This record gives sequence, C-alpha cells and structure tokens, in this order.
Amino acid sequence: MTDAAARAGWSRFPFLSFCWAGLILLLGAGALAAYLVYPRLYGLGPVVFYLFLAALAAFFIILGGGLLLITVTSLTGIDLLYPHGKPSVTVRLLFPIAVLLAKLLRFDRSRLMASFVKVNNSLTIAQSKRIKGDRILVLLPHCLQIDVCNRKITNDISNCMRCGRCPVGEFVEAGERRGLKIEVVNGGTLARKRVAMWRPQGIIAVACERDLTLGIQDVHPVPVYGVINDRPHGPCVNTCVDMDNVDAAIRFFRKS
Ligand code: SF4
Repeated sequence: MTDAAARAGWSRFPFLSFCWAGLILLLGAGALAAYLVYPRLYGLGPVVFYLFLAALAAFFIILGGGLLLITVTSLTGIDLLYPHGKPSVTVRLLFPIAVLLAKLLRFDRSRLMASFVKVNNSLTIAQSKRIKGDRILVLLPHCLQIDVCNRKITNDISNCMRCGRCPVGEFVEAGERRGLKIEVVNGGTLARKRVAMWRPQGIIAVACERDLTLGIQDVHPVPVYGVINDRPHGPCVNTCVDMDNVDAAIRFFRKS
C-alpha cells in the first residue's frame, strides 16, 4: 500500500488517541493544581486566583484547539491548520506525553512513531495549496548505501556510480529527472545543516520512524513528507525503501 493509500487507513489513530489522552491527563492535572493552590491564591486576593484560572484556561484552549485542528485536518484533509509558518506548540507539548503514555501502556514505540509520521504526512498533504514545489530537498539516510560500496556519497551524491546494488542510484536518476536536490546524511546534525543550507520549500525524508519523528519536529514548519525505510538486515545497515512511496511524495510536491 502506498502512503497516499494509507491516508485513508487507521494508522493515524494511535498518535492522535495518545495525544487526546495526554490532553485529558493534563486537564486533570491542571484542575488538581487549581484546587490545591486555591486557598493560598485566594488568600492573596480573588483577582490573583481568577487571573491564575484565566491563564490556565487560555493554556488549555490553545492546546486543545491546536489538537482539534490537527485532528480534523488529518482526518478530513481540509487545511484548518493555524497559525501558518509557526512552531507547533501543540505537538511540542503533547508528543512527549503521548510517548510516555504509550510506554506506560506498553504500546509499541515504533508503531506510535510511524503513526506520528502518517499524521504528519496527512497534514503536509492537506497544506498542498500553500506549498510551492520549486525547491524540494530529498534527505536520505547513509544506511541506504550498501555497506560494501566505498563511494563517498555524503559529500556529493553524484559520486554514486549507479551500479544498481543499492537504491541510491535510483535516487540520483530521479533527482536528475525531476529536478530535486538530493542529500545523503549520516545523522540529524548533517540533516539540519543541509536544510539550513538549501532552505527548501518542502522535504522528502527517508529514514526510520525514530529519525523521521525527530527530524520532522526539528525542521517544522517546513513541510515534510516522511517515508519510512525498510530494514531487512536490522537497523542502520543496508536498508531499502519502497520507491512507490517515494514516487508518491515526489508527485505530491511536484503536483504532477
Ligand atoms: S548504487 Fe552502487 S555506486 Fe551507488 S551508492 Fe549504491 S552501491 Fe554505491
């Protein structure tokens, strides 16, 4: 199944559900805090207590409103995200709580992160009208290169001989054909440098669930279409990727 087809699936529900559960827990904690500090704050004056309540209410309205917009946008494909081009306070705050809850309930971490990537992709797709597809950066993990190949491709992917032993050659060809900037990176630091250098309007990122999850949050608000790699030989060695998913991502940004 391609990523586009997966949009219609259930893969987004784990992340969204854990976020809503996290929000409800935070609400409970906020109500408890208000109850506990009530005598002390009210003693300082009713205004102080009501100011505290107003600040608490504003916090939860922003957080809950943000999560509601993300959920509706992700599930319907209608772009309700707001504000545009700003860091997402909602995801920054709720993501760690969702991860903690998932851990407590022994929910598979990779599945949660894969769900986050699917939610992110659905939000990226929903923003399609606001995304210019002229400057697209494709970020590939170094582990796509087969381990017996000694070509130095992290500095310049054109050093790849396109011998066909690993997927890197296919990316070089796709990059030439579709006018994409392609970079192979060996970690988050280099990926951040490449993003800062190229200032892309959109990113197609191939990586494992964990790296995609961190990277997507790192580069926000640049729209990212994440493609999770396959790891038939274990993590970080001779990985591969479903080129249909990559193609779907390229067609999305190129609008063709
Ligand atoms: S396609 Fe061949 S030359 Fe290029 S990185 Fe893979 S193994 Fe090396």
